[in-house]
Amino acid sequence: MEARCSFCDLSSRESDTVFQKGEASICLECLKLVKEILDEFSIGEVFEGGGECSFCKKEQGGARMVFKGKGARICNECVSEIEEQITGKPASRSGGQSEAQYTNLVKFRVKEGIRELSPYSVPHFKCRVKLDGNESPFSLPKEVLEKVILEIKEIPINRYPDPEARMLREKISKITDFPLDGIILGNGSDELIEMLMTTFSGGTGRVLYPVPTFSMFRITSIALGLEPIPVELDDGFDIDVKSMIKEIRTRNPDLVFLASPNNPTGNRFSDDRIFEILKHSSGVVVLDEAYCDFSGKSFLPLIQQYENLIVLRTMSKVGFAGIRLGILFGRVELIREINKVRLPYNVNSLSQRVAEVVLDRVGFVTEGIQLINRERGRVYRELKILNGVKAFPSDANFILFRVEDADGVFKGLMEKGVLIRNFNSPGRLENCLRVTIGTPNENNDFLRALREVLSS
Ligand code: PMP
Repeated sequence: MEARCSFCDLSSRESDTVFQKGEASICLECLKLVKEILDEFSIGEVFEGGGECSFCKKEQGGARMVFKGKGARICNECVSEIEEQITGKPASRSGGQSEAQYTNLVKFRVKEGIRELSPYSVPHFKCRVKLDGNESPFSLPKEVLEKVILEIKEIPINRYPDPEARMLREKISKITDFPLDGIILGNGSDELIEMLMTTFSGGTGRVLYPVPTFSMFRITSIALGLEPIPVELDDGFDIDVKSMIKEIRTRNPDLVFLASPNNPTGNRFSDDRIFEILKHSSGVVVLDEAYCDFSGKSFLPLIQQYENLIVLRTMSKVGFAGIRLGILFGRVELIREINKVRLPYNVNSLSQRVAEVVLDRVGFVTEGIQLINRERGRVYRELKILNGVKAFPSDANFILFRVEDADGVFKGLMEKGVLIRNFNSPGRLENCLRVTIGTPNENNDFLRALREVLSS
């Protein structure tokens, strides 16, 4: 859908990057301009703007200054928020926000640890080419979509969904050849990660995982009051077995999380190192296989051998991020406990039905995966020969790569309408960017834009 900047009237086609929130939109150029204007003023000074911010609907007042544009108003808080989403870093706040503004509720009633957390932020930009979210670029084929629409019409929306999602679990059980009673579904695997941490935290309350990895392992453990133990991956982004086992021996974590293939590094961990972790852990080992469809390798059958192994999967990466469906596999004894903390009706009726329809027709999903894998090879080869780029090998549907100035390249790509993910931060991911593999055309657009940005 086309978005139009409410300040200069440029469309997302013309300006490539237009941020939209509610009914209002702002392009990158106007955002920079408004920030400069707001920065000129400090709180309390007479400022010719005011009124209600069209983005957050809050009135000017206190530290909030509202800039009045042609077709909309925007406040300094929204400007900073959008800026943070672009750069992935805290913005220097125009107008400043004083400590005194925190209410006692936030100061004294929020659980320790949560105040210092940053939310899992997903920038919301209208870009021509969206390669930032590790989603599939393919929508449903026409005949599958028509079937989905027919089925949705029949859903009694006034009734609660099947709390056990039995029919869907039966289909998954059949496809994976895994016992029905060993399967729990979640509102995305994010919810399953939370369920696991809620259930298995009765021992030491510690959660071990290698880093860099998927940020929700840390965020959720802190949110639940558990102690996260991050251990650096080795130079090849593989598990540092010695350090991990040392932590297992000395800190005895209730849970170990291993995302394989790992996000954002893209590689699968070596089998023998995963086995070492399984053998040495007396707590639960969770293998998060969100990207296993692209690596063609799964540890699912090994649950028979290791009673402490849980495997997580998701439908998000292969074309169905919108229905939020995560799948957890484990021994019945463990599943029984996890099921006690599952919120009632956690998978809604629409998602259940859509997944059922799709799982009866998986051919197009497999074709999509094969195409992504071919494209991944091509994009990797092209990145490898680019001057000033170091691409890391990937078993997933994205590629991590390092450049000399990641922030500059990220912004340059965005100005050309290509959105990827910026992971630049001090340490292992310094100057690293992650690109999701898209359609051949999208990948070409990305590669062309990257070449132009690097040579400018
Ligand atoms: N695990 C990993 C390793 C991921 O990268 C992601 C998505 N970014 C998830 C889990 C969450 O997936 P879902 O959409 O199923 O919540």
